[in-house]
Amino acid sequence: MEDSSQIALLGLDRGELASLVESLGEPAYRAKQLREAVYRQRVESVEEISTFSQPLRLKLVEKGVAIGLPRIEQRFVSQDGTVRYLIGFADGQSVETLWMPEGDDGEAGDGSEAGLEAESSLQSTAAAEAAVSSGGAYGPAGRRALSKRSNRSSSGRSTICISSQVGCAVDCQFCLTALLGVKRNLTAGEIVGQVCAVLKDQRVSPPEDRINLVFMGMGEPFLNYDNFVKAARLLVEEVGIAERRMTVSTAGIVPRIHDFGLEKIRPKLAISLNASNDELRTRLMPLNKKWNLEMLMAAARAYPLRTREWITFEYVLLGGVNDEPENAREIAELLRGIRCKVNLIALNPGPGIEFTTPDAERVVAFQTILREAGIPAFVRRPRGRDIYAACGQLKRTVEIATAPAP
Ligand code: SAH
Repeated sequence: MEDSSQIALLGLDRGELASLVESLGEPAYRAKQLREAVYRQRVESVEEISTFSQPLRLKLVEKGVAIGLPRIEQRFVSQDGTVRYLIGFADGQSVETLWMPEGDDGEAGDGSEAGLEAESSLQSTAAAEAAVSSGGAYGPAGRRALSKRSNRSSSGRSTICISSQVGCAVDCQFCLTALLGVKRNLTAGEIVGQVCAVLKDQRVSPPEDRINLVFMGMGEPFLNYDNFVKAARLLVEEVGIAERRMTVSTAGIVPRIHDFGLEKIRPKLAISLNASNDELRTRLMPLNKKWNLEMLMAAARAYPLRTREWITFEYVLLGGVNDEPENAREIAELLRGIRCKVNLIALNPGPGIEFTTPDAERVVAFQTILREAGIPAFVRRPRGRDIYAACGQLKRTVEIATAPAP
């Protein structure tokens, strides 16, 4: 385990690595070798930096320089191929990170959020919807179809879902992570480190392998803004994940939505809407007292979208609470004139969560109202529910038993 006097290389950008190399009295080209070793080869220890001589590696170790790659503490594999990792950091804290293999149309990334492949994603989302509407994704047939998918793919579009904080402070009433409260922010290195650890474990490498990335794990990225923005930049510039394949989801930290629109490197934006009026939203997401729907929608309207970009609004459907036809009509009104799409997520249940999951028919009825109002609306297929890997189920899971094998 690293002690606190160590310098972690993961999380340092080009300029910071250059300064480090200079402070060690080494020539400038060493910085490039470090970037290669840390972000592309994803070495675990200084000893593995093959472009450095043995004495130079020793020198780094003596100066307290370490890689800072987080440890994979546990792996849970779902019937649908989703892998939920428990990833541990130097201080003993841990978060959850997900790997959703090829063909993911659902949960935290349907490709259309993270990529620009509107056509193909519309088609595959339609297929996922068909499965949902026939009950397939929930039932045994759906599971069989899903489990046929390979877990490792070089040609598909696998998605990694990463965490930005240990726990979360936002307190959404339907989310398991909220029950943890927030323990601390992750550093940029710890955010990037989750990606590096998973890429290494899955033996895939961007940009050759197409990887989508969603900041939709534990925590609220916009409450750890600077580290999140730096991590996104490192993931683009150093790890090689395309900016257009990344999506960040916020519960609606309005001032940060404004700031984010001005960033040079920025993933696509998703906003967790989850309610169609203020009364309901305040009940489900207490942060709505601070930033209400009017403020949120004003920020969304002002958001500087790039060509072929849209805002994704996520809407968790809670049976009998926010899934009435009237709610769908209110949403259509709220979103009028915003270039956007809506991802509907039927509640993923969990212990301590008081809400229920609506029937598939109700979900489809809700979707139909939105579509008829001209709003592209998709139903996210739940991923990894059997291992508590689905949206809103991430809660350092050693505490939760996994479902028995089929
Ligand atoms: N804090 C950010 C990132 C977390 S993303 C945010 O709120 O956007 C997690 C997504 O899962 C959000 O859209 C959230 O509304 C949704 N979610 C939370 N709990 C859920 C649950 N129990 N079932 C389904 N979706 C849930």
